[in-house]
Amino acid sequence: MNIILLGPPGAGKGTQARKLVAERGMVQLSTGDMLREAKSSGTAMGNKVAAIMDAGQLVTDDIVIGLIEEKLEGDHAGGFIFDGFPRTLPQADALGALLEKHGTTLDAVIEMRVDDDALVARITARSTCGDCGEVYNDQTKPIPSDGKCSNCGGTEFKRRADDNEESLRTRLMEYYKKTSPLIGYYYAKGDLSSIDGLGEIDVVAKAISGVLDS
Ligand code: AMP
Repeated sequence: MNIILLGPPGAGKGTQARKLVAERGMVQLSTGDMLREAKSSGTAMGNKVAAIMDAGQLVTDDIVIGLIEEKLEGDHAGGFIFDGFPRTLPQADALGALLEKHGTTLDAVIEMRVDDDALVARITARSTCGDCGEVYNDQTKPIPSDGKCSNCGGTEFKRRADDNEESLRTRLMEYYKKTSPLIGYYYAKGDLSSIDGLGEIDVVAKAISGVLDS
């Protein structure tokens, strides 16, 4: 089963994707994670996209489509969760063509709806474990008082360079201008389901499972 988690920055796509990986053996394909990895390892592509990402703008379609194309090679019986991809109409068309080339299809596109004030609050309070990527929030899920990640015991926590109010404003604008048209695109294709992404992590996970198991 191949699915897209669609939603603005801070909607909880990464958190829910990680749960699906753990519970259903699916493979998470996050273009944001791939780009951050390229950036921190200092590859030529990483250096090229670093300033664009920090400013909250979208990197070019050809770069992210190339990243996804590489990952679709090989056999992944559990299916893929596309997290943060596609983000533009050309990316959506490219994904459809790539899946077709691999003899597979998209099974669901889940739009995670969260209101804008909640996004700002979530993102500016967000940090992640440097080892396993577990997501923490200063208010709702603080880093444990012993300073150890509850998932893996790691002791390094990071804040993303683009999780500040200025970049977030650009990221939201990019979302509304370039990514939100995908809601209509997938609705018209008959693939779209929308869920409330504002609740507790487990409540949102249940809503996603409801879509996947229906
Ligand atoms: P994310 O972790 O999904 O919030 O992505 C972080 C940043 O990586 C975005 O603000 C963009 O600069 C870049 N990025 C990630 N995915 C894409 C994509 N599909 N298309 C263009 N830029 C992307």
